[in-house]
Amino acid sequence: MESSSGLVQYVRDILIGGRSLIIGLWVTFKRLFTPIVTVQYPRQKLTMFPNFRGHIEAIRFDDTKTHHCVACGMCMRICPSHVIKVQGVKSKASDHKRGTLYYIDFTKCSLCGLCVDICPEQTLRFSQEYELAFPSRWDGVIDIMKRLEESR
Ligand code: SF4
Ligand code: SF4
Repeated sequence: MESSSGLVQYVRDILIGGRSLIIGLWVTFKRLFTPIVTVQYPRQKLTMFPNFRGHIEAIRFDDTKTHHCVACGMCMRICPSHVIKVQGVKSKASDHKRGTLYYIDFTKCSLCGLCVDICPEQTLRFSQEYELAFPSRWDGVIDIMKRLEESR
């Protein structure tokens, strides 16, 4: 009597184990036909989606071949993190100032976007860059106008 219940238990264990094995193989088999969502970074780079919020950058316009910043300071005043420093010069030929220096401390920028929204010249935007890294916090203070000129 005892040996027959042991046999039943033995067969039941085999059936349960076999069922688990088939379910596991089915999960593995299905994965063979699903799209791959990971990439071989850094050999392979991602294309960011349009709404991605990378660090703030200045936009180059076709008419001036550079930014349109007039150094009004509105972005500097609205920034809740107080991480913008902008300076400009007024040329004799024009009524407007022209931005010549634009520092942002990216280690403290929260990417809130207020500077982008308020700029009357629409010369700021979120970049698509996702690899910005700094060896020290001081290297995170970046002149985005200089970066714009260097990216020519
Ligand atoms: S995104 Fe926000 S926190 Fe960053 S510089 Fe602009 S206003 Fe300041
Ligand atoms: S980036 Fe725009 S808001 Fe900021 S100082 Fe220049 S023109 Fe003014």
